[in-house]
Amino acid sequence: MNNKVRLKVKPAFVKKMKAGYPLVDAEAVINKQDVTSEGTLIELVDERGQFIAQGYYGEQNKGIGWVLSKNAHEGINKEFFKGKIKRALDERAAFFNDQDTTAFRVFNGEGDGIGGMTIDYFDGFYLINWYSEGIYRFKAAIIDSLMALMDVKGIYEKKRFAKKGAYMEDDDFVIGEHAPAPLIVKENGMNFAIYLNEGAMVGVFLDQRDVRKAIRENYADGKHVLNTFSYTGAFSIAAALGGAAKTTSVDLANRSRSKTAEHFMINGIDDGTQDIIVEDVFNYFKYAVRKQLTFDMVILDPPSFARSKKHTFSAGKDYPALLQEAIQITEKNGIIVASSNCSTFSMRKFKGFIEKAFKETGDTYNILREFGLPKDFKTNPEFKEGDYLKVVIIQKTT
Ligand code: SAH
Repeated sequence: MNNKVRLKVKPAFVKKMKAGYPLVDAEAVINKQDVTSEGTLIELVDERGQFIAQGYYGEQNKGIGWVLSKNAHEGINKEFFKGKIKRALDERAAFFNDQDTTAFRVFNGEGDGIGGMTIDYFDGFYLINWYSEGIYRFKAAIIDSLMALMDVKGIYEKKRFAKKGAYMEDDDFVIGEHAPAPLIVKENGMNFAIYLNEGAMVGVFLDQRDVRKAIRENYADGKHVLNTFSYTGAFSIAAALGGAAKTTSVDLANRSRSKTAEHFMINGIDDGTQDIIVEDVFNYFKYAVRKQLTFDMVILDPPSFARSKKHTFSAGKDYPALLQEAIQITEKNGIIVASSNCSTFSMRKFKGFIEKAFKETGDTYNILREFGLPKDFKTNPEFKEGDYLKVVIIQKTT
């Protein structure tokens, strides 16, 4: 596609790269200055000039590019992209065949062999997330591959390479038919309203599918459920459909009220029977304690980092305190669903947070179930950071 630039890998990083680590760290290469144009193909070599891997240059919030192949002779061309995409689509055959689920991830970046981009499927429409200008340079090859391989209704894109992975405000339509707004998709029979052209977030986080199913089938029946950081209320809908006595959804964003009401409505639930509250979660906890409100289930799914008027929340630092707030208003034998998508700490550390929080409040607990990413969010075993999701279902036993 274009001329390759040779990048020398520092000795300390050679072993890791040879073992299959797919991200090119800025600190891993000696002559980074030799590559300046996004999308340039790169060849990684050791100090003696021996081939390690080839890939592309693309500046992201982490790393300066991704390995595409460990074979020196493999051409990085249209066929290469088509091959990777075909394989990823084939691996999702069970999802395509499931009539009850019409929204899932079909390509998960480095997990499927091309870091820096993801593709999600929404009932015939495809949504591509581009995480660097470098990968965006291969757009034509990727779009052509999708169009050739699938019966595509339409394609949308999110350019997330303005600054630090931020979303660039744009018209996100690429090709084909325009999707209805909302586009109603299904997940295990549940309906979700997707807006493909209204900003970075389209209405549902697909990586929580298995957790929603578990809440609905195993934990919600007859329960009073508090869903914090509720966004469009997806967990509340799952709980309500699972027989919850009542759900309370709390999110700071104004949009969450109408989006959550819409989600109840399209699932045949009268939103008037549920509470949807637009407020800072940390204020709500104080209010609940003051009013002696308690819940049988509290769902915690905060962003990794958030700043509101009065609070800054950083998952790696503040999760134990958040858990303590939840423990205080959870009934005896009640459930806490603790979730984090923060890639800077592991499940082990997350369980340490849980232990710490319960120690502080003096309560006891059992871990009932744990979740990571679902199957369609395929990960690369050499890239632990990519395996970011941690969800723990905890029962408070005091
Ligand atoms: N749990 C949601 C996804 C959460 S996304 C789901 O399953 O779909 C994170 C949400 O947290 C956003 O909607 C954002 O508006 C909200 N948020 C961030 N800080 C908050 C705060 N301090 N109080 C309440 N909501 C907050």
